[in-house]
Amino acid sequence: MARSTRSSDWGFPRWRGYEASREAVKIRLCDRHGCDKAGDRPAPKSPNNPERWYFCEEHAGEYNRNWDYFEGLTAEEAAAREAGERRDASGYGQASHYGWGGPGDGSRSRDERHALTALELEDDADFEAVKKAWRRLAKENHPDVKPNDAMAAVRFQSVQAAYEVLRAAEERRPR
Ligand SMILES: [Zn+2]
Repeated sequence: MARSTRSSDWGFPRWRGYEASREAVKIRLCDRHGCDKAGDRPAPKSPNNPERWYFCEEHAGEYNRNWDYFEGLTAEEAAAREAGERRDASGYGQASHYGWGGPGDGSRSRDERHALTALELEDDADFEAVKKAWRRLAKENHPDVKPNDAMAAVRFQSVQAAYEVLRAAEERRPR
């Protein structure tokens, strides 16, 4: 009899016992590192990129919160947009606006404040604090340190872009 031998079942799992067929049921798991829930919420890896992450509901929410203002921009693009925004906002009198401001004086651009938030800093952080935070966060979220961690990859990109924005601002600062 050829019943239930490997050669006769054609590899269709429904012809096997329960234990064997269980492995054949493919559920895509959440792409969040260490999460073993089903990943049924697709999220684009970046704008104009057909590739998708798949997250569970909780981690899709987390991903969206981290999908910030800088997502999908290269560091250069973020810095260029930052420069463009400043040009548009004030065609003159740069000096009074370009310095590092004290707390709450409103001298930070929107991108700078966003960048500081991405680096977990307050609005009045100085550039030394920026460099320190950047090094720490880039290290923590580096793809070599956390391979296959989608959230870390997003944070790593945000941190890099944020640093570029703040470095460009520092260079424009009058000395
Ligand atoms: Zn998850």
